[in-house]
Amino acid sequence: MADETLFERIISGEIPSHGVAKGEGWYAFLDINPRRPGHTLVVPHKGVSHLAKLSANEAGCLIQGVQEVQRKLGIVFKTTDFSVVLHDGRLAGQEVPHVHFHVIPRNADDGGKSMMAMWPNSPTGLSPDHASLSNLSSKLMEV
Ligand code: AMP
Repeated sequence: MADETLFERIISGEIPSHGVAKGEGWYAFLDINPRRPGHTLVVPHKGVSHLAKLSANEAGCLIQGVQEVQRKLGIVFKTTDFSVVLHDGRLAGQEVPHVHFHVIPRNADDGGKSMMAMWPNSPTGLSPDHASLSNLSSKLMEV
């Protein structure tokens, strides 16, 4: 089908992939361009662009997929630590418009940077602006 996402075509087997695991409503496979060895993508069968478009049950199953992938990667890469990243929409850097968690095993020798530390102009070391945070918190608690 013309409007199928790349990952739907991978799930159906039309495009080959290097599988890692599969479960209820999700499939996991190795990223074709790994940022670290073991970099895996966990995708729902449902080809939607945003996490909010999954039902609570679909999202729950997807998180179980992330946990199962962590279990497997943990054994093979001998770690308990992972970066788990979701680019939730185009403006967040999503290239393939189909929800996918990146699961990347982390090890003591990989430099130790968090994804947040890689963020340009990370405001580390500044005093927290509690007035602004409080104002925003009030708005968010209301909507
Ligand atoms: P994102 O920027 O979050 O949309 O990530 C998309 C990811 O999909 C990138 O890390 C790509 O390397 C990966 N990717 C693209 N095409 C394939 C493919 N055919 N098989 C596996 N991974 C892919």
